[in-house]
Amino acid sequence: MRKKIIAGNWKMYKTIEEAIHFFEEIRGNIYESDKVEALICPPTLYVAPLLAGTLDIPVKIGAQTMHYENEGAFTGEVSPAMLKSIQVPYVIIGHSERREYYNETDETVNKKVQAAFDHGITPIICVGESLETREANDTESFVNDQVAKAFENVTAEQAKEAVIAYEPIWAIGTGKTATADDANTVCGAIRSKMAELYNDDVAQAVRIQYGGSVKPGNIEELLEKEHIDGALVGGASLDPVSFLQLVEAGA
Ligand code: PGA
Repeated sequence: MRKKIIAGNWKMYKTIEEAIHFFEEIRGNIYESDKVEALICPPTLYVAPLLAGTLDIPVKIGAQTMHYENEGAFTGEVSPAMLKSIQVPYVIIGHSERREYYNETDETVNKKVQAAFDHGITPIICVGESLETREANDTESFVNDQVAKAFENVTAEQAKEAVIAYEPIWAIGTGKTATADDANTVCGAIRSKMAELYNDDVAQAVRIQYGGSVKPGNIEELLEKEHIDGALVGGASLDPVSFLQLVEAGA
């Protein structure tokens, strides 16, 4: 049984007061569960204070991105060693916005994935097709190719721990969700790809999230599907009530 993972990606939203308010609202309303794990990835600036401030509630705090080098002249960046030094458990790698606006390529995504594993940080590896690719019926081969490149030089032991987020780009922030069946088909194709790259053990262990306009109204049908082990959520994770509903749907 794979533990479900509901992850909020806050992107570049919320002041520190708003962030603290969010956790005040969920404190006391969220419970430890062996079925579901809850994670919030706030702006980098707030990762350290929120990690310290949420030790008493079952919500993990992750990062939205990181560099692959441990140190150097990279203005504005944070490194895997820095995230490790404050015990960040998860980092989102290769979100489509990073790929589009910050020139992240399959190659840099792979370097970051390796760096995360080398530091004991679990990467949430984002893959997903554009509308053009979907309309050309190339979704599965495109996504599987992204997966294969992300896992180059990653061992089976490491790959087992990975989280993969399937996020069709046309569904992010648009209100358009892939149907639960379509999302499950692609997540299933990713699982088969992991079996081909590694073995069945790895394919059964790896957790695959769906992302793209997930909200309390559609989470249940998504989580019912065989290959969907959780969600990576943008907009709906900003509101404490809807975040709690998303986590509850996984419990
Ligand atoms: P959304 O974003 O839920 O607002 O569509 C998802 C994401 O970008 O991870």
